Amino acid sequence: MRDEKCIFCRIANGEIPSNTLYEDDGYRVILDLGPASKGHALILPKEHYADLYELPEEAGGEVMRIAKKMAVRMKEKLGCTGLNLVQNNGESAGQTVRHFHVHLIPRYDDGSRIAGWTPGNPSEEELARVRDLICGQ
Ligand code: 5GP
Ligand code: ZN
Repeated sequence: MRDEKCIFCRIANGEIPSNTLYEDDGYRVILDLGPASKGHALILPKEHYADLYELPEEAGGEVMRIAKKMAVRMKEKLGCTGLNLVQNNGESAGQTVRHFHVHLIPRYDDGSRIAGWTPGNPSEEELARVRDLICGQ
């Protein structure tokens, strides 16, 4: 399903022009308009899925296949020394466009930070409680 009101549906399906790095029947990879680094790109499915929760499992596999292809190309062509895959789901996670997408963010040895957190220090018991919460019946 495609959503006429969704900007990423329109970009992915070529209704709005973009700097496209890769395209096939189901996906388009474009340069991000507000890049975190040189080469920051977005993998967009042509179908509309709001987020990871709506994404079919097979599409997840396809997206990772494309991510790998693009990562190799970025290393060769841009000379990046690292790469972050970032994928936000929901407002609390920083998602601003409600059409599933994966960020490919090439990294260079320039000291810049993309995302960081302060590591916690939970006890073994706390970790086990969380494990049981996620995995329990
Ligand atoms: P999110 O915060 O939802 O994970 O990421 C949305 C990303 O889409 C942001 O990095 C933003 O710069 C990018 N973006 C938003 N609108 C457009 C657009 O119209 N074209 C392109 N190429 N990128 C966009
Ligand atoms: Zn959409």
